[in-house]
Amino acid sequence: MNNKNNNRRIISVQQILMWVVIFAVAVFLFNRPGSQTQTLDYSDFKHKVAEGRVADLTVAPGVITGTFQDADGKNIHFKTVRMEDPDLVKELSAQNITYKAQADNSWIGNILFNVLWIVVLIGLWWFVFIRPQRGDGKSAMNFARSKAKMQDPSKQTITFKDVAGVEEAKEELQDVIKFLKNPKKFQKLGGKLPKGVLLYGAPGTGKTLLAKAVAGEAGVAFFSASASEFVEMFVGVGAARVRDLFEQAKKNSPAIIFIDELDAVGRRRFAGIGGGHDEREQTLNQLLIELDGFESKQGIILMASTNRPDVLDPALIRPGRFDRHVAVPAPDLKGREEILKVHAKKVKLAPEVNLATVAKGTPGFVGADLANVINEAAILAARADKDAVDNADMDEAVERVIAGPQKKSRIISEKEKKIIAAHEVGHTVVARLTNHSDPVHKVTIIPRGQALGYTLQLPLEDKFLTSKSEILDKICILLAGRVSEEVVFGEITSGASDDLNKATAYARKMIMELGMSDKIGPIALPNGEDGEVFLGRDLSRHRQYSEELARRIDQEISDTLQAAYARAKEIIESHRVQFDTLVARLLEKEVVEAAEIDEILGLAPQKEETDGEHAPQKSDGDVPPQPEPAPRQAELF
Ligand code: ADP
Ligand code: ZN
Repeated sequence: MNNKNNNRRIISVQQILMWVVIFAVAVFLFNRPGSQTQTLDYSDFKHKVAEGRVADLTVAPGVITGTFQDADGKNIHFKTVRMEDPDLVKELSAQNITYKAQADNSWIGNILFNVLWIVVLIGLWWFVFIRPQRGDGKSAMNFARSKAKMQDPSKQTITFKDVAGVEEAKEELQDVIKFLKNPKKFQKLGGKLPKGVLLYGAPGTGKTLLAKAVAGEAGVAFFSASASEFVEMFVGVGAARVRDLFEQAKKNSPAIIFIDELDAVGRRRFAGIGGGHDEREQTLNQLLIELDGFESKQGIILMASTNRPDVLDPALIRPGRFDRHVAVPAPDLKGREEILKVHAKKVKLAPEVNLATVAKGTPGFVGADLANVINEAAILAARADKDAVDNADMDEAVERVIAGPQKKSRIISEKEKKIIAAHEVGHTVVARLTNHSDPVHKVTIIPRGQALGYTLQLPLEDKFLTSKSEILDKICILLAGRVSEEVVFGEITSGASDDLNKATAYARKMIMELGMSDKIGPIALPNGEDGEVFLGRDLSRHRQYSEELARRIDQEISDTLQAAYARAKEIIESHRVQFDTLVARLLEKEVVEAAEIDEILGLAPQKEETDGEHAPQKSDGDVPPQPEPAPRQAELF
């Protein structure tokens, strides 16, 4: 969500380049033969010996060096590779040539060379990783300084008006604002002093924005740092930075300290082999010390954000530390419209644009995505020299955010177009003819992002639960692209590989994590995909079930995929006429929208989106927070 680190990255890249150049020059100089050294063939050398033109010979085990007189009588340094030649000594004596022998000392050279390498590597490492972190290289004393950014209260322009769709979170944060505005009064009225507030929710839902807005509403200084910046190469640096951050904030109180991605330092301790990551742990400990050490009376509130509240060290969320947990969920239909409105203020919209409609077409989008949609639409309108952003810009912007920019310039042969069309129509037909799948929005063979073509399904509004039938249908839809290629062309292409990966992942998840397989039963097994990075824990978790069960699981995954494949094939073969019509239409128009798809398939129009029950938003101080269930997102095949 933020580009704070970009500068540092750029510096590093320049430095890497600089060092590569220096290193290359050094290697060149090191290996460069002396300017006047000539390499002679051995026969040439023998020749010169016979003529008595060589002198100052040094005979080493592998090489002979010395000088010879050239035709002009100049002495030239030479070397030659030594060969097995028992008569050489005799010949040299016969010519009265002085020579000395040298013991094999190449190992000294080797050691020197290796030492040089190590020195260069350490230098490189130091320059790339250590130096840029010393407060932009200004002074060595900055090493342990926090890189937190402070925002002046006077320049604090973000308020709750800029944050939309998270009314409950705003409500929860009112206390904090009241406290920061007047800590003494708040205490007198008997308010319980807040200390640490944990904002949790998916990336891009506006956690950073909310924290800034709290500072803006209260008119206090705002310090922000990303927890990942604390975890450094050297043990102790992170802890020093945490200390520094708190000191700075205390000097500027009342203030908010905001720590982004808290889970980067706040993961459970002792998770890895041998006690885990020392530096991370020290940083975490320092954070806990600071948390315990400051009194809310000082007018400082610590806020932090995470999208994995479940992996946080329990010590962090204990009472007296991060004991306020505020959920920042992905916005619902209404929330999306509000967020779009906030961002649309910055651009000029044509009267035809209806933000409620845009909100409907963007289920699963978070605030950052929606801000992005408006931004992309404005760029598109400006590029086309329009006065205002119109519906076409908005539609294109939404698809850009889902799938990346169109790639009109990519040239695709007619033959490939036919394969892509058949593949996509396979997804579309099966998506439309299975009962538990999300509505099909459109199908296209215009390449976009990584995709050569795609079927776009938009889920019904705000669905948080997924049933077994829905997953089975999804697997069936995913495999349908490959099925079509087989049915139409009798051959399959590499275009289906991504579908295959996704289908397999769904099957695996269904069987291993969700306990949805009759044969394996209701059991949740570690799937190795939940982002747990600590080696120790992973190793121990991976062997929690037997080889025998592992084999049955593999069999069940394979059976599930086979059955879905057969079902997709059955659906396509029994609707071959409609299938072919749709392929032809797609080849002709490149995009076919929902209504036309339904017409060709002879189906009644799909269900309209309903604004169903919203999942309750919950934030409770006593229960450790769990990740918010993410609403379903738009999907491409
Ligand atoms: P997070 O910290 O949850 O990852 P951010 O606060 O960094 O998300 O959000 C990134 C950007 O997305 C914000 O700067 C803002 O432009 C937009 N945004 C996100 N959520 C919202 C929201 N609820 N209301 C308005 N804009 C939002
Ligand atoms: Zn596909």
